[in-house]
Amino acid sequence: MKRLQRHELRHADGRRLFVYGHLAADALPSDGPGGEWPALHLRHDALRDRWVAISPARNTRPQTAPSVTQRSTGCPLCVGGPELPFPYEAAVFENRFPSLVPTPPEPPRLEAATAPSAGHCEVVMYTSTHEGSLATLTAEELVRVVAIWADRSEDLWADPQVKAVLAFENRGEDVGATLSHPHGQIYAFGHLPPLLQERARAARRHGDRTGSCLGCDVVQRDVSSPARQVVENPSFQVSVPFAPDWPFEIHVRARRHGTGRLQDLTVEERRDLAAALREVVRVYDRFYNAPMAYLMACQQAPSDEHGVVEDWHLSFEFCPPNRGPDKLKMRATVETAAGLFINDTDPEVTAGELREAADRTRPVDLPGLPLVRVERG
Ligand SMILES: [Zn+2]
Ligand SMILES: [Zn+2]
Repeated sequence: MKRLQRHELRHADGRRLFVYGHLAADALPSDGPGGEWPALHLRHDALRDRWVAISPARNTRPQTAPSVTQRSTGCPLCVGGPELPFPYEAAVFENRFPSLVPTPPEPPRLEAATAPSAGHCEVVMYTSTHEGSLATLTAEELVRVVAIWADRSEDLWADPQVKAVLAFENRGEDVGATLSHPHGQIYAFGHLPPLLQERARAARRHGDRTGSCLGCDVVQRDVSSPARQVVENPSFQVSVPFAPDWPFEIHVRARRHGTGRLQDLTVEERRDLAAALREVVRVYDRFYNAPMAYLMACQQAPSDEHGVVEDWHLSFEFCPPNRGPDKLKMRATVETAAGLFINDTDPEVTAGELREAADRTRPVDLPGLPLVRVERG
């Protein structure tokens, strides 16, 4: 078992920084005042009965990514940048451009309902190396990332106002990722966002109707359809879902009952999750000549009062926008206005192609993955 030390520091503007592994400096240089987000608030959309986050300060964030060929020039996430001025192995910091903050400003009084934009927005640095993906991290780096997600998730759940924790990654210019340095994000929401409400309702209804756990039943359904399975894994079911919105969508779902959140995974399950993610991203990296962009979301059980924690199996869900090597599926009018996704592919056929690519591109000397446990300093 490898031990991973966690160190907590603070930027001059009050944002927290967690350094995982060796700590090369014990203080951060002052980068000026900050920590004020006066315009941040939620507005209620009565037509859809849901909240929209208003966050105008985010518009000042970088628009284009420094490309791989530009190397680390100008990358704010590389060693020496404003976020991490000293050498690091892996780190998490509070977002400089948050949409949600732990102590939000009073919302403005307007002609319709507003609310404080409460929560947390964190950035997860997978590695200090500027290039790469979840498929090319070293074995230790990869398992470390999963341990860090679980560690941060557990901490964020300790805030009583948190209703949902979403770990995610936007990768590639096709999905608007502004920085190419391998990293992800975590949002902890002070309210339950619409699609999570929908999922919680679905899990509750399934439980009421059948008396069984929706997560268990979905895993069982995927197991019974080998045509949709992409790769094998002892702790996670890796399949194209039964009804995917996107042609190359893949879900990585925990098999064991009682795995609603990242911190519920055992160290062995975390290692197996890392292996599953490595397989999926390798397929996306190698399926076409250039790596596919994707949205990756870790769907965890929402807060206890929604009554579905027991019926939830956490999943990592990947949505690449591609429908061909140079063709992107747009989220067009029917998808946006009616919420009906029209998938132009046959899920079983696509799964077969992805499975074939996984088998064809798997290196013979794939390194084994270690077990890693975080120790808070
Ligand atoms: Zn970088
Ligand atoms: Zn279950």
